[in-house]
Amino acid sequence: MSGPDINGNSGPPGRGVAADELRRHNLAVVLSRLHLGGRLSRSELASGTGLNRSTIADLVGELLALGLVEEGPALVVSGPGRPSPVVRTRPDGAVVLAVELSVDSIAVATVGLGGHVYNHLRIERPREHLSPAEAVNDIANLARPLIASLPTQHTFVGVGVGVVGITRRSDRFLHFAPNLGWRDVPLGELLAAELQVEPPVPVATEADLGALAEHRRGVRPGAPNLIYVSGEVGIGAGVIVNGEPLLGAAGCAGEAGHTLINPAGRACRCGAIGCWETEAGETALLRHIGSQVSTTGLSALNTLRKRAAAGDKATLAAIAEIGRWLGLGIGNLINVFNPDVVVLGGLFHRFYPFLEASVVQGARSQALDAPWSGVTIVPSGLGIDSPLIGAAEFAFSEVLADPARVGLARPHRPAGTSRRRNAQPEPPANR
Ligand SMILES: [Zn+2]
Repeated sequence: MSGPDINGNSGPPGRGVAADELRRHNLAVVLSRLHLGGRLSRSELASGTGLNRSTIADLVGELLALGLVEEGPALVVSGPGRPSPVVRTRPDGAVVLAVELSVDSIAVATVGLGGHVYNHLRIERPREHLSPAEAVNDIANLARPLIASLPTQHTFVGVGVGVVGITRRSDRFLHFAPNLGWRDVPLGELLAAELQVEPPVPVATEADLGALAEHRRGVRPGAPNLIYVSGEVGIGAGVIVNGEPLLGAAGCAGEAGHTLINPAGRACRCGAIGCWETEAGETALLRHIGSQVSTTGLSALNTLRKRAAAGDKATLAAIAEIGRWLGLGIGNLINVFNPDVVVLGGLFHRFYPFLEASVVQGARSQALDAPWSGVTIVPSGLGIDSPLIGAAEFAFSEVLADPARVGLARPHRPAGTSRRRNAQPEPPANR
């Protein structure tokens, strides 16, 4: 047996695996393939996973019974062999709510299996340090209409949250968010209570989820070694190594924004001096612009982007200066992680056309020849929504790891939603 699991792992489980465990593993492999690969014929599933056709038929039958996939008409094949039915995920078979809480905006989306976005909303968020309770209330008010508008028969399976700060996945705590002014917030539990969903509501650092989204659905899907670097007020980074998210001992790896880049630099909100984000984040950009921009946040950035597009020299020089520092830090990351690709998101995605030259130059000056020769630096393929899409993928993790759990009873669900248990298979779609 072979084929990647949801984290890109390949190969058979160890010897002595019980038959039920092996079946659940295979079920997870097949559903993950369909979730990321779109529609596939049974024979493509067999060749892609290394499982034989009768095993694939059994697994697809089980996924049909769980309401997670549907089958379409068989593909017409030339030559010997039977036509092979086409299988695809049912978006309503498992639906999640994705939440992104960043400094300048709150975004929510309802996403079905296979990555189908039912609905998506993003609103600007005031810069003032709102309390966690206020933010959670804002998120719930944004999310409720989206959940209420889902198809009647959808199966709601969970919530995934990305937040700009250091998180502890073990207890769904936001440990420290210097740019929100929050410490030790039980964000997962607060959201579960406000949304009236069954806990746990998993919480992760938004840059880690941006990396996950770029790895699964971005500009270089499947790239085994990927670094996502996102700019907002600060800098966030998420790292994928050999197809696996790099989490670290406490789950807070990748805080590259708070690595030292300028010992003679400025005080950072984290308490240290000369962190990368003090030289290459939004604060640094606005500092270089000086007094020309009086506001902060998205409106200021939109103004600056217009000025850059119009060729304003002072604006372009300020962008190039943060690009240089950004590039130096990326060069450090290239030396440490030897990535296939570095994806730039958030602020750096918005300003990429004006940053590209200085970023590449800065990175080239710092990176060693060997890791530099194989790396590509690109803007995000998902725009500013990488962390939101990553939050959805994060929320799907449990269902993809063990699809049978979608049929298990769960006592709570968002108000106004339905839950289908052990759904009977519907007739194949005639398309
Ligand atoms: Zn810092």
